[in-house]
Amino acid sequence: MTGNDLVPCCWTPHDGERHAYRGDPRGHGVTVMSLCCRVIVIRHYPPTAKERHWPECRDCAHRARDLVAEHEMRGLIRSIDVELPAFGLDGGHLAGGCRPASPR
Ligand SMILES: [Zn+2]
Repeated sequence: MTGNDLVPCCWTPHDGERHAYRGDPRGHGVTVMSLCCRVIVIRHYPPTAKERHWPECRDCAHRARDLVAEHEMRGLIRSIDVELPAFGLDGGHLAGGCRPASPR
């Protein structure tokens, strides 16, 4: 996991179960340590592969929930407030010097 990771953990199929590891998705062939302390080489499977439907590792599921809760408490995961002033916070005036076309 790096300081730039956007998500607390990701999941990957391995040895009959899906395990979680810290941080953003890693590339095919990268070695990671799962949350249940297994060394796993990441493999990418097609969307329909049966490996994607393997059950979650119980240890990883438990630790992933804790990790998500920890990130939420530290404010690393939260909704993003987006304002679009061009769409009229002041009743229709357009920002950035644009003016609505006047009727002719
Ligand atoms: Zn696991």
